[in-house]
Amino acid sequence: AAWHKDIAHVVHPYSNLDAHATRGPTVITRGEGCYVYDEHGKRYLEGMSGLWCASLGFSEQRLVDAAVKQLHTLPYYHLFNHRSHPPGIALAEALTAVAPEGLNHVLFANSGSEANDAAVKLVWYYNNLLGRPEKKKIISRLYGYHGVTVASGSLTGLVHVHRDFDLPLPSVRHTDCPSHYHFGLPGESEAAFTQRITDNLEQLILKEGPETVAAFIAEPVNGSGGVIVPPAGYFERVQAILKKHDILFIVDEVITGFGRTGRMFGSETYGLKPDMMTVAKGLSGAYQPISGLLLTDAIHDALKAGSRKHGAFAHGLTYAAHPVAAAVALETLNVYRDRDIVGHVREVAPYFLEKLDALAGHPLVGQVRGVGLLAAVEIVADKAARKPFDPSAGMGAWIQNRAMAYGVIVRAIANCVALCPPLISERSHIDELVGGLARALDDAL
Ligand code: PLP
Repeated sequence: AAWHKDIAHVVHPYSNLDAHATRGPTVITRGEGCYVYDEHGKRYLEGMSGLWCASLGFSEQRLVDAAVKQLHTLPYYHLFNHRSHPPGIALAEALTAVAPEGLNHVLFANSGSEANDAAVKLVWYYNNLLGRPEKKKIISRLYGYHGVTVASGSLTGLVHVHRDFDLPLPSVRHTDCPSHYHFGLPGESEAAFTQRITDNLEQLILKEGPETVAAFIAEPVNGSGGVIVPPAGYFERVQAILKKHDILFIVDEVITGFGRTGRMFGSETYGLKPDMMTVAKGLSGAYQPISGLLLTDAIHDALKAGSRKHGAFAHGLTYAAHPVAAAVALETLNVYRDRDIVGHVREVAPYFLEKLDALAGHPLVGQVRGVGLLAAVEIVADKAARKPFDPSAGMGAWIQNRAMAYGVIVRAIANCVALCPPLISERSHIDELVGGLARALDDAL
C-alpha cells in the first residue's frame, strides 16, 4: 500500500521521476545503531549515514530525550525582534567554542543549502557596507556541492544541478576541481597539477578583476562531487591567493564538520582559516534539521553597521534555531565530547582506509581515496587508461543495488561509490561494509 501511495503522490529528490512509477521506492521504516530496516524487515548497514549526516547512527537515546524534553518545555520560539530562547543561546555558545578560531558568531538556518545561501547574501551585504558594491562575484569549484537553492545550487559545480533550472546565477564562476586522478595531465605530477590549477584560480581572479571577486567557497573534501581529497599544498596556495586579492574564504563543512575527517572540522585537517563557515548534517546527527553560518568579528561588525544604516538586519527564517532542533544539536555536541567521537574516528579511520585500500587491486577499481570516515572507490572500465564505464551502462547504480541486496548501503556518484559510515562505526561494521561492497564488485566482473 505504501508503495502505491508513494508513486501517486511523492515527488522524490534526486530520483528518476519517470522510472519511479514502475520501480517504486525502498521504504525504510526504522533504525538501530548503524543499521536501518525496510518495510519487509530487511536490515541494511547504513554505510552513507543516510545522506552523510546520521553521525551517531539511528537510535541515540540522548538525542531523543533532548527533543522530547524541549518539546515539553517550549516546542517553538524564534530569534526575531531581539527574542531568544535557552537552547538557541546555549548552542551558539557551544558551537562557536568548538569552531575554528575567530568564528565567534553564528546565524542559524535549517539546511546546508540555506546556510550557503545566507553566506552569499552576507558576502554581498558585507561588500555593500564596505562601500565596494562592485565586489560581488563568488568563485566555487567544479564538482563542489553546496546545495540546490537558487544561490547554493549556483555554487554547486555539477551540470545536472544547473541544466533546465536556469542556474547558475550570473555572479558565480567555477574553477578547477582538485582531483589529480581525474584532471591531471598525462605525466603531470601531483605537485605540478596543484600549481597549475591554483595558477588557474589566480588567472580567473585577474581576468574577472580582483575588485569584482568577493568570495571563494570550498568544501575541505568535496563530498557529493565524488569525495575528492585535496592534494598536498592545494589549500595553502588557494588561501595565499585569496588573501592577496582580498577575497573572503567560505568553508563549507556541511559534510566534513564534527569529526568526519578525524578532526573536529575539515578546516583543522587541512589548515584552513575561514572567514565564514557553514555547518549542518552532523551538527544535529541529522535527528533534527538545523544548520549554521559562522562568522568572524569583522563580518559581524559589518552586519552591525548595516543595522545602524537600515535599522535592522532584514534576514531571518521562521524555524532558524528552532528550539527542538537547537536542543538536539546541543546534545549532539555533548555526545561528541563525552564519547570523544573525534578520537574514535582517529582510531577506526586507519582500519577503514586500509580495508578499502585492499580493494585497489580489483580489476574494476581505479582508485581508492579517503580521509577519516569518508571515502570513495573509483569504478573503471579500463584501469590502466582510467577510463570510466559509459554512463548508460549504469555500473555505479548496479554496484550500489547489488551491495544493497547484500544488506549494505553505499552511494553511487558519477563514476565512484562513496562511503560515509556513522562515526560510531566499529571495526565489525567496517568489515561488513567493505565486505558487502567487495562482493558487489566481484559480481560486476
Ligand atoms: N554542502 C555540502 C557540502 C553538502 O554535502 C550538502 C548536502 O549534501 C549541502 C551543502 C546542502 O545541504 P542540504 O541538503 O541540507 O541543503
